[in-house]
Amino acid sequence: MIHSQRSFEGAILIDHRASPGTADVPEGKMFESALHVCNHCQRNVILNPDRSVPLYHCPKCQRYICRACGALYHRTNECFTIMELVDACGEGQLEAVLAKRRSLL
Ligand SMILES: [Zn+2]
Ligand SMILES: [Zn+2]
Repeated sequence: MIHSQRSFEGAILIDHRASPGTADVPEGKMFESALHVCNHCQRNVILNPDRSVPLYHCPKCQRYICRACGALYHRTNECFTIMELVDACGEGQLEAVLAKRRSLL
């Protein structure tokens, strides 16, 4: 099954035009950004429009991943997707896959 990156994209909109605001989105500002789900741990990954935060992209599963998973990939060169765990569960291989992951961490 082939999906484009965009089909996974959601959006985040923070509207502080009528609120005291926060450090990230001060009073009177709106913040809008594309949102991806990390393909490894399913956390949300916000794609900053100004790209001040580097994006992590896993070359093995060809999807965006979060910072923590990006750092892990950098260290282990292993693609740990959540689907791998789901598949392993169905095949009764969960313990084997978890043991393999632990040995790499
Ligand atoms: Zn992640
Ligand atoms: Zn991956």
